[in-house]
Amino acid sequence: MKAIRVAEAGGPEVMRWEEVPTPAPQEGEALVSIEAAGVNFIDVYFRTGQYQSPLPFTVGMEGAGTVAAVGAGVRDLSPGDRVGSVNFAGSYAQFATARADRLVKIPDAVSTHQAAAALLQGMTAHYLTHATYRLKAGDFCLVHAGAGGVGLLLCQMSRRIGARVIATAGGPDKERLAREAGAEETIDYRAKNVAEEVRRITGGKGVKVVYDSVGRDTFEGSLDSLSLRGTLALFGQSSGKVAPVDPQILNTKGSLFLTRPSLAHYVAAKEELAQRSGDVLGWIAAGELSIRIFREIPMEQAEEAHRLLEGRKTTGKLLLTSQAAAGGAVPAAG
Ligand code: NDP
Repeated sequence: MKAIRVAEAGGPEVMRWEEVPTPAPQEGEALVSIEAAGVNFIDVYFRTGQYQSPLPFTVGMEGAGTVAAVGAGVRDLSPGDRVGSVNFAGSYAQFATARADRLVKIPDAVSTHQAAAALLQGMTAHYLTHATYRLKAGDFCLVHAGAGGVGLLLCQMSRRIGARVIATAGGPDKERLAREAGAEETIDYRAKNVAEEVRRITGGKGVKVVYDSVGRDTFEGSLDSLSLRGTLALFGQSSGKVAPVDPQILNTKGSLFLTRPSLAHYVAAKEELAQRSGDVLGWIAAGELSIRIFREIPMEQAEEAHRLLEGRKTTGKLLLTSQAAAGGAVPAAG
């Protein structure tokens, strides 16, 4: 089979479409013929070496496709089942393995591509709005990068709860998308002071929670946008790592809470994975959550996908599609 491999950390050009042995599913695992892989910022962090992985490695965690084979002890899955996961050992590949208990079955009303596009960013928006800070109707929240993959879903899920969403976005087209997804106010954070705008919109009070995936460039403004005892959920670093902070700052700015959450810790329990994925896929099936697939790109062009994502050129989800999958035969495991 072929896969996108990284032999040394670096720019998008270090990703190579190479022939590799098809993995064999071990005990408790399934081998999945990948139809579409989701592109996520975490893939960039691993590629650049910001997050460490033993080299060489196959890029990607998220994907969806059809079960091709199962390892010993797997009873809940059979070849032919449509499944998705955020825990593939390299999803930018024609075939990938995952632990069977980390795979979710895709409902009939949801396409395989929708599932590949929704699982990671959807469950992230879910835990942030339902668990990290449990939003209530009427709460003001601030969503950074509101037209991004996670951002558009945060806007929709916050609105669904009845919260009042202020979103930041880089430019008028992205602001329009965030408004369509449920933001009642938007701020072009390249042109305006976010904290000042938030104070104006909230009558001086600030927001209960900031969902900040941008990191270095937004961190200070996020703290300054919070109400007393507000929560900063710093869940990403698209603009770079935040410098170390003195905890005393949380006191002086109003007894604030700061958390740096990760999806892995909010779906660690099997029941939690089932609940969050069930909600996300169920809302898509019911037409209550819309997944914006920005572009589908052939998997061998992963380099182009990363350039778009890092270059702030995307709105919504980027998918990498694989030719081998649709009904493809399982090659001999090597
Ligand atoms: P996005 O679609 O949000 O893309 C990133 C966006 O961030 C850009 O489009 C851009 O929007 C904004 N941005 C601001 N500054 C920069 C910069 N210097 N370089 C690049 N982009 C910038 O990506 P995802 O939805 O895939 O991920 C969003 C973030 O969420 C990432 O930081 C990711 O690591 C994090 N994440 C965290 C998870 C967790 O559990 N902790 C899980 C999933 C994602 P604009 O032009 O509007 O500024």
